[in-house]
Amino acid sequence: MKLVYTHPNSIVVAQARSSMELAGIKCIMRNEYASGAIGELAPIDAWPELWVTNDRDFERATLLLEKSHAAIQEADWKCEQCGSVSPATFDFCWHCAGER
Ligand SMILES: [Zn+2]
Repeated sequence: MKLVYTHPNSIVVAQARSSMELAGIKCIMRNEYASGAIGELAPIDAWPELWVTNDRDFERATLLLEKSHAAIQEADWKCEQCGSVSPATFDFCWHCAGER
């Protein structure tokens, strides 16, 4: 078993776990309920952790996390032409169809 991911927010870790499960990678969460109240960060040794149960899935899991993490981090963007804000999944402005 290998530790593949840790983050102070258990929701983010749970999200990572679901993308793993979708890809057929078995994993478990530790310290799921260890973090503090909302807005309050737990000490790093109490961060929720995501472990892959099968060591040979480790590399695949890391790649998958890089991808899904990039997607999570991708923020809404603002159109340069009309100033409207579109979701990260849109390649064109919802308002004026201007390119991102
Ligand atoms: Zn626009």
